[in-house]
Amino acid sequence: MEIDELRSSEQSSGAHLSVLARALIIVGSLLCAAIFFGALFAAFLAYADNQESSSPVQTPPAIESDQFRCDPDVIGEQDGPVVAVYEVNDSALGSLCFGRANPAVIGAWEALEVVAPSPFLEPVVSLAGYDFDGPVDTMAFAGPIDFRGLDFTVALEVDAAVADPEELRLTMMHELAHVFSQDSSQFFADVARDDCETFHNGFGCFAEESYVNLWVTRFWDQAAIDALPDDGSPDQDAGDERCLNDSAFPGSYGASHPEEDFAESFAAFVYGVEMLPDVQPRLDFFAEFPELAEFRSNARKAGLSNLPNNYDDCG
Ligand SMILES: [Zn+2]
Repeated sequence: MEIDELRSSEQSSGAHLSVLARALIIVGSLLCAAIFFGALFAAFLAYADNQESSSPVQTPPAIESDQFRCDPDVIGEQDGPVVAVYEVNDSALGSLCFGRANPAVIGAWEALEVVAPSPFLEPVVSLAGYDFDGPVDTMAFAGPIDFRGLDFTVALEVDAAVADPEELRLTMMHELAHVFSQDSSQFFADVARDDCETFHNGFGCFAEESYVNLWVTRFWDQAAIDALPDDGSPDQDAGDERCLNDSAFPGSYGASHPEEDFAESFAAFVYGVEMLPDVQPRLDFFAEFPELAEFRSNARKAGLSNLPNNYDDCG
């Protein structure tokens, strides 16, 4: 009886194990099937993904600045690694969208914001900081980041910005002058040189009543315009020579290209930099436009007039 019980118990136990084993086999089979079909599905996805990524691009996609404004490759790594990029939305600094938070970049925006009327900041869609090892050639730069030429990024070298806050103010204002003088009301990026009846900078054509076209008409002679490089870049050798011979230029860099002349002069105007008397007509140009004169009055209100002259004198 005890044995039977034992046997029966063994049998019962054996029967229990057998059920468990069968259950395990069923579960195991299901698992195997799941793994098999899972692997098959994963392989299919990988294949589909591979097919998608390796398919040739027939036409360039429409470029929206939102896709690119935070991309360090688009902003340009050639001046040093990009360490921080902030979105700029409707003339206000937005959230960090690349890298790490950087007080120098935030400070550079505040330097602009305190002086520039808000509509002039609108074309800026991102603000970047880059970090260059060693002496800096370029403290800041600005450029369009879409093919339409409507949205701009401004970038600054973070160490140089911290080392010289006054130079940073002048440089940021110089860059903003490039931005607002090429916005959609001023400049047509898609007009070819042959179709341009005003000043063409190698990338597009300035509107007749644009600041830059009026500037070129007033301060640059045709021979100097004709001698500019076709690609729109400044010509520093020619600038050095012009500066040597003409004390009306705001330094040799300003003399290298009409748009550099405009941007250098504008920064000097805004911050009341004391310039040689022959530069005065250039400074007076900006005072003719109430919206540009507002920059200068904002700077005065903020106690930011008479910034030191770091320009090289011409003549
Ligand atoms: Zn410039």
